[in-house]
Amino acid sequence: RRMEHIRNFSIIAHVDHGKSTLADRLMEFTGAVEEREKKDQLLDTLDIERERGITIKLQAVRLNYKAKDGQEYTLHLIDTPGHVDFGYEVSRSLTACEGALLLIDATQGIEAQTIATFWQALEQDLEIIPVINKIDLPSADVERIKEQIADVLGLDPDEAILASGKAGIGIQDILEAIVNKIPPPEGEEDKPLKALIFDSYYDPYRGAVAFVRIFDGEVKKGTKIKLMSTGKEFEVTEVGAQTPQMTQLDSLRAGDVGYIAAAIKDVRDIRIGDTITDAKNPTDQPVPGFRPAKPMVYAGLYPTGSTLFEDLRDALEKYSINDAAITYEMESSPALGLGFRCGFLGLLHMEIVQERLEREYDIELITTAPNVIYKVITKKGEELEVRNPSQMPDPSQIDKILEPYIEANIITPNDYVGAIMQLVQDKRGIQRSFEYIDKKTVLLRYDIPMAEVLFDFHDKLKTATRGYASFDYEFKDYRPGYLVKMDIKINGEIVDALSFIVHRDKAYRVGRNIVDKMREVIPRQLFEVRIQAVIGSKVVASARVAPLRKDVLAKCYGGDITRKKKLLEKQKKGKKRMKQLGKVELPQEAFLSILKAE
Ligand code: GDP
Ligand code: MG
Repeated sequence: RRMEHIRNFSIIAHVDHGKSTLADRLMEFTGAVEEREKKDQLLDTLDIERERGITIKLQAVRLNYKAKDGQEYTLHLIDTPGHVDFGYEVSRSLTACEGALLLIDATQGIEAQTIATFWQALEQDLEIIPVINKIDLPSADVERIKEQIADVLGLDPDEAILASGKAGIGIQDILEAIVNKIPPPEGEEDKPLKALIFDSYYDPYRGAVAFVRIFDGEVKKGTKIKLMSTGKEFEVTEVGAQTPQMTQLDSLRAGDVGYIAAAIKDVRDIRIGDTITDAKNPTDQPVPGFRPAKPMVYAGLYPTGSTLFEDLRDALEKYSINDAAITYEMESSPALGLGFRCGFLGLLHMEIVQERLEREYDIELITTAPNVIYKVITKKGEELEVRNPSQMPDPSQIDKILEPYIEANIITPNDYVGAIMQLVQDKRGIQRSFEYIDKKTVLLRYDIPMAEVLFDFHDKLKTATRGYASFDYEFKDYRPGYLVKMDIKINGEIVDALSFIVHRDKAYRVGRNIVDKMREVIPRQLFEVRIQAVIGSKVVASARVAPLRKDVLAKCYGGDITRKKKLLEKQKKGKKRMKQLGKVELPQEAFLSILKAE
């Protein structure tokens, strides 16, 4: 039967353990990529991915492999991102698979996201093939990794494949294991169409394109499809698969992974996690939904420079088709005007969105400091969700403020345990467990307020452990905290976009640090700028930016023309990511000062 010769799999690992490189080798080995097209990390197609060397969007590629048993197999490889912010995309790609390659860097061993992605794969009942990667490196310690595979993951270490994506070692062993160990998909071609959308993107020619896994039935050009969550119907204009180029196919059938285009103009019609069925012969059961993206962090995005609110709105609308995880709603700030409150999976996600909007849509914007979602119980007993600190009710009306906690896993060489404990204590963390995973490596579990982790936890952890510790987290629950709202006044006026929530015990330290930080980043202007951190009417800290002296300005007049041009250009560049507040001009850094104020 046809499906006996299909295998759908993902590659999962801690970041930098070699997923994209291995994906390249698998494509080359199976001939999906000609020698002349070869470039590194082929699946990382976005510019920003190349520059940062990380994978953001998952991509599904169809490979043809002639196995040692003489049979031709169709393999669908789904590359997944490895960063902690993108766990959501990992879970989406796993829904489309029956198996996963779990890559472990032979010089690093198991790290925090190795465990996190392993559990995700296990939850989805996938066949997991451990691969010990980078064995070409002299410092590879295969025996130690095998011990960890047995002790930490409970897998048979003798099943692990020794490989190097870079040196091309073990590639055929991996392909054989995929064919022999991962079960073929189940499903029936004769049943009504049931296709799960696990990704989407906007194509100027094809319209909104859905990446799907077909569970039952068949879809081809001309099929009238229905999106089950909205009931909207479209006629399919093209189906195909990435090989890795977009390649048109006659049809997609049960077990396949590929794309469907149906001249869908409105990007919001394609919802990740939705089921596509046949409009004339619909299925009665959609594919059980998977964990929807849940924004953890909110921040305001405001247009600046020559960008108008409408430009930002259009850009966000287009951008969001390609990023199922972002949410946004209009908000208006007395200080910044009209903008959007956006929900992100984490700080890296937020940074990437800002950068992509700027580069790909030519938008100038600033982001306000990110915050978590607080729950407020009022004295009247109502529960409010606060996504914007400036909307925190007056303290006289508040009974309790609850904040989100995460459960963090940290894996570290035992030498750094002391430093980590100190850091976590400073972040109001509570230790849950402490366990050796091999002779020198410790797995620590903590409950930590999410807000504390947002700020600069990851950087501090890396510094405290010289980059050796790895960290992963998951939302756990809401707990009451002794929290207050702090406002920032610029020349006596509260700037709503700078308000934030802080733990009472840290308020003075944070207030002091934030005004100092702002003094550093706010450029001197023609008049004095006063910065104050206040709680209610109480001033916690203050600082001043002295005015420019007249003679400094005088130097700009007259003099040689090239120097003047340079100065002008410099000023123009400096204008990027600036926001005018009344008379005062604030740079982007000023809005993010809180991130560095701990
Ligand atoms: P990903 O984050 O898991 O996708 O990892 P990448 O494939 O982007 O690889 C991360 C880094 O490890 C890059 O610098 C690769 O060149 C390097 N790398 C990947 N595989 C190997 C390998 O098998 N051996 C060695 N020596 N380096 C590798
Ligand atoms: Mg990658």
